[in-house]
Amino acid sequence: LEPSLTISGLQVCFDTPAGKVRALDDVSFSVGQGEIVAIVGESGSGKSVTALSILKLIDMPPGRFEGGEIRLADHDILSMSEHELVKIRGSAAAMLFQNPRGSLDPSFTIQSTIEETLARHQPELSSTDVANFVEQCLRQVGFHDWQRVAASYPHQLSGGMCQRVAMAVALACKPRLLIADEPTTALDVGVQAKVLYQLRMLNREQGLPIILITHDFGVVRAIGQRVIVMYAGQIQEEGSVDEVLKKPMHPYTQALIRSVPEGAVSGEVLYQIPGTPPDLIDPPPACRFADRCEAVMSVCRRVAPQVTTVAEGRRVRCHLYEQPETANEMESVQ
Ligand code: SF4
Ligand code: MG
Repeated sequence: LEPSLTISGLQVCFDTPAGKVRALDDVSFSVGQGEIVAIVGESGSGKSVTALSILKLIDMPPGRFEGGEIRLADHDILSMSEHELVKIRGSAAAMLFQNPRGSLDPSFTIQSTIEETLARHQPELSSTDVANFVEQCLRQVGFHDWQRVAASYPHQLSGGMCQRVAMAVALACKPRLLIADEPTTALDVGVQAKVLYQLRMLNREQGLPIILITHDFGVVRAIGQRVIVMYAGQIQEEGSVDEVLKKPMHPYTQALIRSVPEGAVSGEVLYQIPGTPPDLIDPPPACRFADRCEAVMSVCRRVAPQVTTVAEGRRVRCHLYEQPETANEMESVQ
């Protein structure tokens, strides 16, 4: 099966008065059919820029694509015009954001919002089909009392319900991929679990591929099948959630996981990684984690670590795992 999304060598920068911010550097990954992939990292790691890039939603300028490719279903995203993109946003991929209430029009009932989305994305539906589809979308996100929800305005619903409604609206576009950027961050802990459960059900029952962006390893543990760890605009590690949790390889991942031990309440910080992420206007010349890494070696400040595939689906960007020959070769080139 073709992957639903493939990103290769993506470079994104932002031109600011202070200089060029290298927000994404050499980001490559793919999302298979029916997969849930979590992207985890601190704020400023590039995870939201990655999410927004998929539908070319970053502000340009100041944003700029400097290289790479994004293939979403049959689309070569970076070569598409705004006019062409408008037609596929929602259907090729739909997005969920942190603040669900902000994404719903306060002056429309949920029913009218979903109907309006259907009219734009599935204009061929008859009025009976529309009515059925509204019910179907709301039921798919776990509303058994869907009629009451349909008749409500956003302000009459809780934050967690609004996020599930936002999912229902996304489903009305029949998306081939769902991109959820911190969908539970603004919600109470108890409600977070319910929203994550609904995302898992959508994935399981409809095979909908999902990218879940989060800063919280607790969320990764709760939902992900595969996880991508980002730091300072680069992917540092990738693998199955089980393996990465059991045996994190990159020193950054090890520190991140130490900050959210098993059983910790989501959001509770038990360990802080000393130091701060680097300035992406003038990032460290070699390993971007070098200033905070407990395992730093002299080579780490001289030679940029390359991504090493250590097993199928398991990748890490760190000198500790590079094949000795490659590291020597690279040093001699310097
Ligand atoms: Fe640490 Fe070096 Fe690996 Fe960077 S390359 S994470 S500094 S050991
Ligand atoms: Mg963000």
